Amino acid sequence: MVRAKPLRDNFGRLIDYMRISVTDRCNLRCTYCMPDGVQLVPAKQILTFEEIVDVCRAAAKLGIRKIKITGGEPLVRRGCPSLIGRIKEITGVEQVTLTTNGILLGEYLDALLDNGLDAVNISLDTLDADRYRKMTGCGELSFVLESLDRAVKSRLRVKINSVLQKGINDREWDDLAKLAQNRPVDVRFIEIMPIGCGKRYETVSGDEVLAALRGKYHATERELSVHGNGPAVYYRIPGFMGSIGFISAVHGKFCDSCNRIRMTAEGELKPCLCYGESIDMREILRSSISEEVRDDKVCEAICGAVRQKPAMHCFESKEQISEDRQMVQIGG
Ligand code: SAM
Ligand code: SF4
Repeated sequence: MVRAKPLRDNFGRLIDYMRISVTDRCNLRCTYCMPDGVQLVPAKQILTFEEIVDVCRAAAKLGIRKIKITGGEPLVRRGCPSLIGRIKEITGVEQVTLTTNGILLGEYLDALLDNGLDAVNISLDTLDADRYRKMTGCGELSFVLESLDRAVKSRLRVKINSVLQKGINDREWDDLAKLAQNRPVDVRFIEIMPIGCGKRYETVSGDEVLAALRGKYHATERELSVHGNGPAVYYRIPGFMGSIGFISAVHGKFCDSCNRIRMTAEGELKPCLCYGESIDMREILRSSISEEVRDDKVCEAICGAVRQKPAMHCFESKEQISEDRQMVQIGG
């Protein structure tokens, strides 16, 4: 295979990762994401699997190697595992991973494995069943814990994403970290970003959690090996099977190493999570032009989104954030 020249943005950053939202629907109502639901986009306006695969094919030609399927909750969209299988078959795509709240993961795990899923991120903010129900609007914690253990047993690479909220679940940092003690999973603490309902919450800084971790586990050491596609900084605790990661978007600006673009379920290609700018892929995909011209235009649009990537986000000055939708509508 002839490899595409690496795709770089105007700041020299290598862009080889794309996050694709496949739905704006979700079976939970997390307080900082979509506590009251959202105005759903009519199904016709959501990209079809064929359209998503076409975008992935163009992206792979240009140098995108890793694709993350997200949402809303991606597993509520029927056929999600088969979409993953189709993307896995694209020449140039090296890795397809999934972000899920884990509620339906147990049900779809076999199909996801059959379709070649490379890894899964499970979002889990509390280990208290009542608190889980409150924080997610309706979720049943036992489903997520069972899914987690089944996924680990199946030897799928698993990461747990935890968002800590001041005064709500922040005292659980140690219980959550301990999920990595006897399981080969990484637990990552994510700072709440001021996007959508996230603006209403005060984030717990990654540094605070790291200090607490170091206070309890004195031999905690920075780990330099690469764990995935993102900006997490990892630490090892002696005796733990997995590592503890920090994604500190607010307090630790990691834009220098940004490697991604993202596409919403409606086909808007976003250069950066923080700003409202996007390129309408659906219009291109559905225009009456020849397949060849359309493919060229899709490639041009992807290059355009990469070129438009800003140097950095502006989460620290909220008045400059021009993205006003909820995370679930963008694709977290
Ligand atoms: N439903 C799936 C899930 O929960 O994993 C995928 C979509 S969800 C939007 C992806 C991730 O975004 C979750 O881990 C969630 O905790 C996180 N998230 C949502 N809103 C956020 C915010 N304002 N700041 C930081 N993370 C957020
Ligand atoms: Fe749904 Fe994920 Fe948002 Fe929670 S964080 S409401 S599970 S999309």
